[in-house]
Amino acid sequence: MAKICVFCGSRTGHNPEFVRTATELGILLAKRQHTMVYGGGSTGIMGALADAMLPLGGQIIGVIPTHLARPELMHSQVADMRITADMHERKALMHELTDAYIALPGGFGTMEELFEAVTWAQLELHSRPIAILNTCGLYDGLIQLIHTMHREGFLSERCLQLLTVCSSIDELASWLEKSATPST
Ligand code: AMP
Repeated sequence: MAKICVFCGSRTGHNPEFVRTATELGILLAKRQHTMVYGGGSTGIMGALADAMLPLGGQIIGVIPTHLARPELMHSQVADMRITADMHERKALMHELTDAYIALPGGFGTMEELFEAVTWAQLELHSRPIAILNTCGLYDGLIQLIHTMHREGFLSERCLQLLTVCSSIDELASWLEKSATPST
């Protein structure tokens, strides 16, 4: 099965739908026996995802830098926790371990990780599929901005196609089915 890197918030957000859909994704990943690669946190959407997978025996790899590897932040139940020297090493390892990327709701950290993955795809440094889950329209403004960049000539048609936008867990499940293939 594939290894799926999930970028997501260290906070839950206000709308309970954010946690609910993260929980649904965690259940889906565990049931389909995908391995989740994530930031190793116990808080926010990160914690909700891991908490949904663990009771189902889901495979999780946490990748966390030393400065965040504190008991109040790092998930204590994730057995395979890789602790890196810094953020650069963390991101390099997450990329190395991954077959596909998903971004769930989050803030600056999630955006930075997502756009690094998209930029590296744009530069043809990898060809892994990338999707975002636009729960409750959180990313409507971002999607609009991306289309404006395309219209104004800053993004090619090929670059526009690098990011798949899903508006429900069902859409994300179908995308996973056809796009996320395990590396050999
Ligand atoms: P944000 O979207 O700003 O909440 O940042 C989330 C991203 O930043 C996660 O994907 C992690 O890579 C990283 N991050 C922020 N806080 C933590 C934390 N407490 N534990 C682990 N990773 C974190």
